[in-house]
Amino acid sequence: MSRRGEFRVSVTKDYLVFASAHFITFAGHRCEGLHGHNYRARVTVEGALDESAWFVFDFVILKKIMRGLCDEIDHKVLLPLENPKIQVVDDGEQVKVAYEGKPRYVFPTGDCALLPIPNTTVEMLAELLTNRLRAEIDKAGAAGLTAIEMEIEENFGQSAVYRVVL
Ligand SMILES: [Zn+2]
Repeated sequence: MSRRGEFRVSVTKDYLVFASAHFITFAGHRCEGLHGHNYRARVTVEGALDESAWFVFDFVILKKIMRGLCDEIDHKVLLPLENPKIQVVDDGEQVKVAYEGKPRYVFPTGDCALLPIPNTTVEMLAELLTNRLRAEIDKAGAAGLTAIEMEIEENFGQSAVYRVVL
């Protein structure tokens, strides 16, 4: 059988969610107050068929990795470490957060997820989770994948998609 089409597989499950607090900064001097979302992730991977299994990537492994990535940031305050307007200092017990040099929040360290991104927008979360997924997939040894697409939704009908070609 000749096969000219391409395959993509997607997962989005009830447990691929994270209920997290955040705030973002805007251009100029505007900064949101702390609030939360029930985020949901959907991931799609594309690639060649694994010739022995007739699938692109094992759903069981993909779901397990994604669940782990969501659990890491579930029920946390998401804080960006690369935002020039937000200063985040973690002394191991408490995380102190200042906005443009003025103290704003203090959280227990265990309640925070300190993320290497400039703003906790769904765009940046989608890129971060894609990079983390990619690292895990590399460890699992999936040589045939050609692209990853990650959608992060923060409200019904409000989401961002990041796509990377491998
Ligand atoms: Zn928000």
